[in-house]
Amino acid sequence: MSARILVVDDNKLNVKLLEAKLAKDYYFVSTAANGLEALEAVKRDMPDLILLDIMMPEMDGFETCTRLKADPTTQHIPIVMVTALSDISDRVRGLECGADDFLTKPINDIALMARVRSLLRLKMMMDEWRLREQTAAQFSLPAQDEPDEKIGTTGRVLVLEDDMLYFRSIESTLTQTGNVITQAVSIQDAIEKVVCGDYDQILASLNLKNEDGLYLCAQLRAREATRNIPILLMANEGEINLIAKGLDLGANDYLIRPIESAELNARTRTQLHQKRHYDRLRRNYEHNLSLALVDPLTGAYNRRYLDMHLPVLFDRCRMTKRPLSILSIDLDHFKRVNDTHGHAAGDIVLKEMISRILVSLRPSDLVVRMGGEEFAVIMPETEQKTAMSVGNRLREAVGTTPITIPGTDLKLSVTASFGVASVNHEKDTTSATVLERADTALYRAKETGRNKVVGEDDAKDQTS
Ligand code: GH3
Ligand code: MG
Ligand code: MG
Repeated sequence: MSARILVVDDNKLNVKLLEAKLAKDYYFVSTAANGLEALEAVKRDMPDLILLDIMMPEMDGFETCTRLKADPTTQHIPIVMVTALSDISDRVRGLECGADDFLTKPINDIALMARVRSLLRLKMMMDEWRLREQTAAQFSLPAQDEPDEKIGTTGRVLVLEDDMLYFRSIESTLTQTGNVITQAVSIQDAIEKVVCGDYDQILASLNLKNEDGLYLCAQLRAREATRNIPILLMANEGEINLIAKGLDLGANDYLIRPIESAELNARTRTQLHQKRHYDRLRRNYEHNLSLALVDPLTGAYNRRYLDMHLPVLFDRCRMTKRPLSILSIDLDHFKRVNDTHGHAAGDIVLKEMISRILVSLRPSDLVVRMGGEEFAVIMPETEQKTAMSVGNRLREAVGTTPITIPGTDLKLSVTASFGVASVNHEKDTTSATVLERADTALYRAKETGRNKVVGEDDAKDQTS
């Protein structure tokens, strides 16, 4: 995942150091020497992440952060404050100004990179939702909703902690600020509670007596229903490797023991706020998305939606020079299914196929019914090679297990063919050409035996 990162520090040596570390991992780095320069740079470059020093002449980091978070055009950019101050009150002040995290100098490389990756992942998902919301809003009136600052910042928190003393102290801190706390004493217990209850946040200890708390992260992130619940990890000083692993698994933030009440409250508040914001984007989006945009049989988007939204995705992809791939899908010999078992059985097959496809994709991928038994998947931030392997995963999801037709003994084996094309930044000026190439690759898959995934290059090599 590449991204643009703005490094703000008045100390040139610090800037150079951070720049080198980040560039080594292929991030594009721009720099600013003080708060005012930073504000200009943000407006100009719209970075994906900001690393912000606190002590700077003219405008300090707190002020810069407050301004960026107050501006609707920049408030979604994650900010990590980087500072020599390790005083707890400064950390809390930073979080209260809206910073997403706080790193203390000298910066631990593992902590820095894990944090950068996790914040960028989160931002990518939110960007995706904002774009979709904008498109959907063109079809109907925006939902009436509270402004951002009014959305609550207390909620239901599940605490996975088997040490009673630790638990009691967390409970008392978070209850005082209006949250409702439930304890889980094992990973199994936590999962059962999360699945049944409606939690806004999970606090998970990485120091359980008999278990590795990271399994909870992995399990929650692997399930659709729990994928977006914020997870805050708790670990001991010196366990930064463990925390980095947790952030890569999808945890949102962490606390180091001994846990300070003010920091626990600030971080919890930030996560709850973010979750509310995300839930709201989603709700607005669903509200706006009139039935006219969704295919009632399969729940996939329809062609009309694609025609509106694909150019938006394409323009953004051209502007940022990021990859985007399209999968064209067509069921094999589907006419036979209808002819042999009837149209109703055919409908069930279509529906089941799309639900298998949907669960195998990321939330940011878009599934569209192009017509009949032809579908397309639009995959932002995805290179051809990855798209090919996604195609193969979908092919297996469709073809491996026969589809049962309810109320009958029928088990129908169906397969599908796939064509893959990716945006070529030198050549493509509209999304239509990419779609066309995905279709050409799909025809090639049909011609050469079906039940396969063909990339645009293979299609070209063999037809020319
Ligand atoms: P190929 O492998 O070449 O794609 O063969 P095919 O039989 O799948 O392709 P063809 O285009 O000849 O037939 C498509 C069939 O899909 C014919 C049409 O009746 C059926 N179909 C299209 N939409 C629907 C639908 O909504 N429900 C059902 N049950 N069938 C549909
Ligand atoms: Mg077909
Ligand atoms: Mg067809």
